[in-house]
Amino acid sequence: MTYASNEVIEKPLHATAGAGVNAVDTAVLAALQEFPAPVAVVDRHGATLLVNAALARRYGAAVVDREGLAPMLRGAGGQYDIKMRAPPRLNEPIDAHALAVPLQNWFLLLLGDSDASPLVNEVAQLRERVERLERVAATDHLTGAWNRAHFDRVISAELARSHACRQPLSLVLLDLDHFKRINDTHGHDAGDRVLRELVAVITSQLRGSDTLFRWGGEEFAVLLGGVGYRGAERVAQKLRAVVEMHDFGGVGRVTVSVSAAEHVGEESPWSWFQRLDCSLYAAKRLGRNQVVVDRRGNSDCWADESPMPSLHIEWKEAYECGDATIDEQHRELFVRANALIDAMVAGGDGALASLDALLGHISQHFADEEALLARMNYDHYEEHKRAHEALLKRSGWLRDRAAVGEANLGAVVEFIAQDVVARHLMTADRAFFPLLRGAA
Ligand code: GH3
Ligand code: MG
Ligand code: MG
Repeated sequence: MTYASNEVIEKPLHATAGAGVNAVDTAVLAALQEFPAPVAVVDRHGATLLVNAALARRYGAAVVDREGLAPMLRGAGGQYDIKMRAPPRLNEPIDAHALAVPLQNWFLLLLGDSDASPLVNEVAQLRERVERLERVAATDHLTGAWNRAHFDRVISAELARSHACRQPLSLVLLDLDHFKRINDTHGHDAGDRVLRELVAVITSQLRGSDTLFRWGGEEFAVLLGGVGYRGAERVAQKLRAVVEMHDFGGVGRVTVSVSAAEHVGEESPWSWFQRLDCSLYAAKRLGRNQVVVDRRGNSDCWADESPMPSLHIEWKEAYECGDATIDEQHRELFVRANALIDAMVAGGDGALASLDALLGHISQHFADEEALLARMNYDHYEEHKRAHEALLKRSGWLRDRAAVGEANLGAVVEFIAQDVVARHLMTADRAFFPLLRGAA
């Protein structure tokens, strides 16, 4: 491939944050700049966002060549052979080796000419630091909710995921009623306190798949994954009611007007927000402390289709048996099963690797659990062990068939996530929980 000069490269940023990079990046940049080895940051499309001083020293004003980056961008991190392009010889890419670390929105690339393993510890520290900075930048400092910038960053991926899985996505928008009066009457600090408390009240009602954002001054949004407009209406009503019932202490009655809308068709986020705004305006006009729902959504057509094999399975406290090791492993099973589901949804070839990682964990977990049950002279030990064996046998058989293309990977995932992780844990395992709780 030739490299025409007008394609030359999205200009990477060196020591200064600027257009295309958000506010956090000043701090991230500082962390990257100090890093002794060449580091680059590319976005999810492979565009070079940042290169550090060590990289500039090594390669000049280089960028990472997008060509051939696709496997890395689809993957979960690791070592990759990549190419760099640096003037003046843009047509002659330079071979490099990268240790890729996926972050929330970017990939961090540690560049070298060969194996980057010796720097793994440094990279782990850098990653932790960058992740912390990303979190801080994504958080509203007054209330601790995610901020609007974070919403803007995640929404396109959420929409893509919703469409890929044919799972609805809804937004609930809440605006405090006559908040200005609270500020005017009780002072700005009292107003701030109300905002913080409102976030606590809303958060107490949300599930793991719901995300709360501070949308603007006294406006908040809740993104509801896997929820259509009917479910969103229930959430909106519940939130309106709990806010009305909550005692905000000393500032009198606090209420919210609420709108809810499911994303519909291929509409832009902008038109989705417009619908929410119109409904919110209607709720205000109707006298405030009201919910108005725009009753349209993809769930109307998707509901009749057979659902995707499964979406995330949810860990519940009730699954805890009281033995720290077993509980930890059970929780880990859920995390890994969900990672597998994500890998499936993302497509590409990461799913089989995730599946193998999960199967490895399951067989280790079964062995540990059997050892524990044997030590405790569990009455149904043999029966439980046989159930484990049967599950492992079927999982392995399905996995092998899927690997050679004879079985649908989706069916395997469903079996592992639902039958092995969720159902076995909720039924067979629960039988021995009392024994462990008694012993605890
Ligand atoms: P409505 O019922 O129509 O929504 O009336 P409102 O008074 O809530 O709406 P308006 O938009 O007139 O006023 C919003 C107020 O929210 C004005 C602004 O000073 C206040 N506000 C915005 N951000 C903050 C903040 O961080 N802290 C405090 N204390 N007040 C804030
Ligand atoms: Mg407002
Ligand atoms: Mg208001």
